[in-house]
Amino acid sequence: MTDTPIIESEMPKAYDPKKVEDKWYKFWMAKDYFRAEIDPKKTPFTIIMPPTNVTGELHIGHGLVMTLEDIMIRWHRMKGDPALWLPGFDHAGIATQVVVERELAKQGTDRHKLGREKFEQTVWQWARTYLQTIKEQKMKLGCSCDWSRERFTMDDGPSLAVRTAFVKLYNKGLIYRGERIINWCPRCRTALSDLETEHVDVTGNLWYVRYPLEDGSGYITVATTRPETILGDTAVAVNSEDERFKGIVGKKAILPVIKRSIPIIADNAVDPAFGTGAVKITPAHDPVDFEVAQRHNLPLVHILNPDATMNEKAGPYQGMDRFACREAIVRDLEKDGLLVKIEPYSHAIGHCQRCKTIVEPLASLQWFVSMKPLAKPAVAAVADGRVNIIPERFNKVYLNWMENIRDWCISRQLWWGHRIPVWYCGDCRKLTVAIDPPRTCQHCGSPKIEQDPDVLDTWFSSALWPHSTLGWPNDTEDMRYFYPTTVMETAYDILFFWVARMVMMGLEDTGKVPFHTVYLHGLIRDEKGEKMSKTRGNVRDPIEIAAEYGTDAMRCAFLTGNAPGNDSKLTDVKLEGGRNFANKLWNATRFVVRSIPEGKIDLAIRHSSLPAEDRWILSRLNRTVNTVTGMMENYQFGEALGRIYDFLWNEYCDWYIELAKIRLRPEFNGPSPLPVLIHVLETSLRLLHPYMPFLTEELWQNLRHRLPAGWQKTEAIIVAGYPVVDEKMFDEHAEQVLDSIIEIVRAIRNARSEYKVDVNHWVTAEIYAGDLAGAITPYAEAVQTLARARPIALHKVRLKETVRENAVVSVLKETEVVIPLASMVDLAAEQERMRKEIEQLEPDIARLEARLDDNAFLNKAPPAVIAKERERLGERKDRLARLRQQMGKSG
Ligand SMILES: [Zn+2]
Ligand SMILES: [Zn+2]
Repeated sequence: MTDTPIIESEMPKAYDPKKVEDKWYKFWMAKDYFRAEIDPKKTPFTIIMPPTNVTGELHIGHGLVMTLEDIMIRWHRMKGDPALWLPGFDHAGIATQVVVERELAKQGTDRHKLGREKFEQTVWQWARTYLQTIKEQKMKLGCSCDWSRERFTMDDGPSLAVRTAFVKLYNKGLIYRGERIINWCPRCRTALSDLETEHVDVTGNLWYVRYPLEDGSGYITVATTRPETILGDTAVAVNSEDERFKGIVGKKAILPVIKRSIPIIADNAVDPAFGTGAVKITPAHDPVDFEVAQRHNLPLVHILNPDATMNEKAGPYQGMDRFACREAIVRDLEKDGLLVKIEPYSHAIGHCQRCKTIVEPLASLQWFVSMKPLAKPAVAAVADGRVNIIPERFNKVYLNWMENIRDWCISRQLWWGHRIPVWYCGDCRKLTVAIDPPRTCQHCGSPKIEQDPDVLDTWFSSALWPHSTLGWPNDTEDMRYFYPTTVMETAYDILFFWVARMVMMGLEDTGKVPFHTVYLHGLIRDEKGEKMSKTRGNVRDPIEIAAEYGTDAMRCAFLTGNAPGNDSKLTDVKLEGGRNFANKLWNATRFVVRSIPEGKIDLAIRHSSLPAEDRWILSRLNRTVNTVTGMMENYQFGEALGRIYDFLWNEYCDWYIELAKIRLRPEFNGPSPLPVLIHVLETSLRLLHPYMPFLTEELWQNLRHRLPAGWQKTEAIIVAGYPVVDEKMFDEHAEQVLDSIIEIVRAIRNARSEYKVDVNHWVTAEIYAGDLAGAITPYAEAVQTLARARPIALHKVRLKETVRENAVVSVLKETEVVIPLASMVDLAAEQERMRKEIEQLEPDIARLEARLDDNAFLNKAPPAVIAKERERLGERKDRLARLRQQMGKSG
């Protein structure tokens, strides 16, 4: 049994998140509140947390993810749903390998010097360190995820799922090995998928090069952006319809420099409008050329080593870097008189997403997933609504992309990741594809088998995440109960990388969609709306922010102005707003707690005998619960928090507590406000708990500590029930009365501030309240106290014109407030002050008018200056008119 953390006998004056946050997180953990229990009678609510990359520490985007998912989970847990939030970590194949390689480079070594085994050990160490750091950071952010079910993509379970899925797809013919054009990163020395290649527009050149015809009858000119690839050409192609080249097709051309003879062919893929209309065909280094070569049975000539230096096929350029070779070959072409011209040319060039190196498209023997058969059911699942994407506009984006999907290159020439479960036989050359490592070849029984050295694309294991984490391929209780999961919450920029592939693989492996709802959040940008990045130097660390402002304040700031799918800005104003809100609630609760008397207390609320203000706040509370619940059901968490904030700050703290203070005075005769004061606060804290978990737990426990045992059913707010609307509490009449009272007090306060009335000075007021007069009368004392107006007179009939003279009149929704000027200011002194001001204004106005009549000024001055002068004149004329009117009133 764990004891509840210490609640001090006197609440400290100020909220100190540092003293509160860790204490409650430990308590929640010790009580095992985060663990999801299987209850066959109930429908579970499940979120599989996007596995965090073990490449480094949490960034601001993770802060938003953790906040949104924690809100959903805490809300459903409080609603009584078995709520599972399964936390996880991703080995992040290439990303982790790149950062570890950078570390090694700093130490003057690299992975090749270390060797595969040592390198893997180094990465494991790195991964374990960051996994632990990230886990602790998630705890700091208040994540109430089920740590007993934590998963890492390289764990035995998810690894078994990876091998099983691979073998199943292979046996169905949906995974194949073949030579295709892939994107090759020469720095990472691996193949990349299309998604891992970022296309950036660059201005390069288009070189026009003349190839001599073999029969000596002339030249054919081609244009290229990569002259070094001339060395890999195996043909020149023209469009078969192109009249310009009739008679030349079928001849042979001689490649410059290396003098290899190549055919001139016709193919409809050639665009006659590009360059000269004749193009060079480099099948091993270009996707379009690769296809042309297949149609025409052309050979492939590879000219690059894995590090993008030129290989032996490059003749005199062997050993040069690809870009050095480009310069050298251009020089040689010029020397030989084969360079016709150079044109500037801008085009998109692929870069490695992880290390930003320019990738080379090249033909390579790799493993691929055949995507079209997998995409079909995944399209249907979104089209028929089994998977619903929020915001809705992304449904279309998803469907468009799926329609044009291409096969997925899944093999990576990396060392960090899931090894491909394929073994090659040294004797019969055949493949053994198996879930468990075989000892012998399944075809000939030879023990001379060797596993494929490559690993799988890190997104392959991510694609299985919703089912692999729950135990698939084993038939587990968790899999049966929690799958399909409920919500997948993630960033919109990985819709294709991840969400689409999860839908495909979930359907393929389990026959069911992996989740019913996809909630896509936007990016968090800086104050100016710029993307946060290390190069811009505007990155903010969520852990530092939480330490400075408090975790709950940061969570509020994330939610302020946040809507699904939209980017949002993180500003200091928002963070300060969150902190002020926490302080406001702290002070309010402290007031309530200090009002609780020692000994016996009657907390029963007898609705029939409640005064209007109690009925009003209960009505407003229930309307807030109603609105907030509706918004949360529609995933409008930012808006929902806004409503809770408005209710607590404006209605509860600024009005209800102020009214209650009057009733808590010893001399007050009437019902105590405490039962309602406590009830509304306690309910609001529960309403707010998913958003500000630490603060609400601390405040709730402070109440609980001072109230009779059995006051609440649970021993912590985290497991208390989420508020449910009680429509019987809606009370329009009470709302009308209190709205009027609030308006009256505001009107008097506004008049006081307009006339700069000293705080210690009391004004008087005549109030016409019509039919509401009877209901407002009991609040005369309250209005006097809150507005510092005494006496006030309440009238049922309209006020006479004479009363309205020499007074500030405010016509409100249901009432009218009249404050005699004499009660606010010393009239003689005020007259004198106004007379002086008029004396100053009149010549000023005359001067401005003269100026604006002067054509010389009007012709010379810039329009902005003239506009400014006109504005000034208008302001002064208005002021003068107001002063004259006021002088007339009080004169
Ligand atoms: Zn790279
Ligand atoms: Zn064999």
